[in-house]
Amino acid sequence: MLIYNVEILNRDFEFVRGSLEIDEEGYISGITDSRRGDLNGKGSLLIPSFTNAHVHLGDTITRDIWIGRSIRELFRPPNGLKHRILKEKSDEEKILAIKTALRELMSSGIGAVCDFREEGRNGVLLFRRAISEFPIDSVVLGRPDGDYSFLEVSDGVGISSPMDVGLDEYSRLVKEAKKRGKMAAVHVGEDPFNQLMALSQYGETEVELALKENVDFLVHLNYATEGDIDLILRRRVPVVFCPRANLSMGLPPPPIDELIDRNLIAIGTDNSMVTSLNIFREMDFIMRHYRLEPKAVLKMVYSGRELLGLEPNYIEEGNRASLLLMRIGENLRYCEDKFSALVGRAGVENVSHLIVGTRVLSLGGDLNKSR
Ligand SMILES: [Zn+2]
Repeated sequence: MLIYNVEILNRDFEFVRGSLEIDEEGYISGITDSRRGDLNGKGSLLIPSFTNAHVHLGDTITRDIWIGRSIRELFRPPNGLKHRILKEKSDEEKILAIKTALRELMSSGIGAVCDFREEGRNGVLLFRRAISEFPIDSVVLGRPDGDYSFLEVSDGVGISSPMDVGLDEYSRLVKEAKKRGKMAAVHVGEDPFNQLMALSQYGETEVELALKENVDFLVHLNYATEGDIDLILRRRVPVVFCPRANLSMGLPPPPIDELIDRNLIAIGTDNSMVTSLNIFREMDFIMRHYRLEPKAVLKMVYSGRELLGLEPNYIEEGNRASLLLMRIGENLRYCEDKFSALVGRAGVENVSHLIVGTRVLSLGGDLNKSR
């Protein structure tokens, strides 16, 4: 397949005009100057699809019950409000909600996602059933529901917090996942209560306790201390941060400067009860709040695939095609800088096609067209 007459974001993070060839296996075979092909990209940018590196899609069914409630009231397992609501819903209702969330992800240009899935083995299987018809790469990290059988069907474990499950169980969960060659990730330094509990009970921060085990990545870090950041840098443990969701819960955005410098950070939108899954909104917020270069924000989004152990999708020969055709609509016209246009102005309305392998989905900025 040949996408022609388009401005392509190459591996060096420069835009070049040309045509992109994708072979029959769905891998990029090169950038050419061909003037004909299968898909005309005139007036568009061709970029790698985005990664949303931390979500809870199961909570789509509880959208916006968070207003006026505290983080502990909503999320603390096992009896937080979301856990009680999820228990009352049928499997079919949950699958429909997850599919709704996946359509929202796809419409905002997400080609890869990492979901923290509750409800044990069945919860993971529901996610697998829901995503089977979507061309989105996924990593699903489950949680125990009585036993560890979720590890047979998940890509690993996504832990609520070492303090929520207790240090012994935390240690067991990470070790069981690693024994099976799977991933382990954990929310940490998110909740001030858990941080206080870690310090008062163990004399160490929650991050220090979490890093006693060999986890693949951490999520949040709102209350990370300078010592925590030093430890993370020394150990080179990647972090996913989700600032809009954090602010909604009254939590301060985490200190990320040094993590950016060391390329150790990716972006998630977190719980779909609280925030939209739209990565454009997250990028826009991050750029303005932290006063970052737009290119640096885009690079963080693209770091997600590596952090999750997925095949890279940068536009270079030999990489798997997972791409977006972004239409330069009225909202992007006159933009001097294509990176600030993508990060600070673009939205769902600009995502015209998602190209995964040899499959081309016409989104046209319309959610319903992707059904
Ligand atoms: Zn989370």
